[in-house]
Amino acid sequence: MRKRPDGAGALRRIALWLVVTAGMTLAGVSGSTAMAQDFTARATVLPGDSGIRDRRGRLELSLHLSQGVPYRIFTLEDPRRIVLDFREVDWRGVDPAVLLKSDLATAVRMGQFRPGWSRMVIDLAEPLALEEADLRLTEDSGRARLTARFGPVAAEEFTRLSGYPATPGWGREGLVALPMQVPPKAPDGPMRILLDPGHGGIDPGAERAGVVEADLMLTFARELQEALVRSGAEVYLTREDDSFVSLEGRVAMAHALEADLFLSLHADALASGRALGTTVHTLARSASDEASRLLAERHDRADLLAGIDLSDSDDQVAGVLMDLARTQTQPRSEQLADAIVLALRSEGMPLNTRPRRAAGYSVLKAPDVPSVLIETGFLSSPRDRENLVDPVFRARLANAIRDGIQAWKIADDTLAPLRLK
Ligand SMILES: [Zn+2]
Repeated sequence: MRKRPDGAGALRRIALWLVVTAGMTLAGVSGSTAMAQDFTARATVLPGDSGIRDRRGRLELSLHLSQGVPYRIFTLEDPRRIVLDFREVDWRGVDPAVLLKSDLATAVRMGQFRPGWSRMVIDLAEPLALEEADLRLTEDSGRARLTARFGPVAAEEFTRLSGYPATPGWGREGLVALPMQVPPKAPDGPMRILLDPGHGGIDPGAERAGVVEADLMLTFARELQEALVRSGAEVYLTREDDSFVSLEGRVAMAHALEADLFLSLHADALASGRALGTTVHTLARSASDEASRLLAERHDRADLLAGIDLSDSDDQVAGVLMDLARTQTQPRSEQLADAIVLALRSEGMPLNTRPRRAAGYSVLKAPDVPSVLIETGFLSSPRDRENLVDPVFRARLANAIRDGIQAWKIADDTLAPLRLK
């Protein structure tokens, strides 16, 4: 496929080319359902035949890939650079010095940027704009070749064309998909809460007697959102409809929002036993150490500490910084969970006999945002199920959770001066 910008309109400004690979529709590329499936696709750069070269006063990029991947191209200023985002490319074995032979570009960097996302950045010696990009698949081998050409433009034109594109499914800052417009966070503004209705899309969660966890939790998240907004909080949802959001995506959203707290909402079913009543979960410490190790290994540290650039620090430094963030956050998550349990108890809500629990939930692995997972009840319990489908019960539950959050907030604020920035 080949698309050529005509120089007019938004397409040129955004400089975006999404590529359709086998088994994926173009609509699917921007739809969150297909996004999740793409995370397994990982192309490698094939040796030889790849390069960034000058040709008749233009910069030409050619990348030979083991398979086609969705990508996009845009430019940024200060310093002037070309950014290519991929989902995703393994850069191992690619030598920047071999790749880049150009007077128009001064340096090239590649790497994983966030889970499921890879990035190449080309520093420019002078203002260039994308003229043409093309990704071709070889039918028999499944391999792909990405070519892109950049031509000289005036400095003002470069400024006009540059910026993070607002691409559906690719999100703000290029990579964190925020389903909503978010104003910048004011230092003394309202508490910013991210509610996370569990599951969604291809992952419906538990299903019992016609009740689907994903739908029920979305309904409850909206009700809880209303209760919290009425009490003055600023509340966002990780999903606004029945769409799939990866666990890492949910965590990343908490960072992007600079959320003050993250609340994941579930109503799972257990195959055996007669578990019933609400349980409130925090991340287990042992699991968090494992999480640190894995996360560091995967070089997605940019996701972990908002505002701290770890891209140049080694794994050890990153590990220490992550531990620091988690050491400060973990007690706050536990205090939040305790406050919610206390509020539920004083409201006379049906609690599990062991209401406070800890486990290695991926969705709670945001080291700098206090995070709690609430199992509102078990769909496998007829009593819990009956409660949860009742709007009156849910309203009581929402109000109790709101009370718990408010109590925690007051206590947490008094401790804030003691925390390291
Ligand atoms: Zn669940």
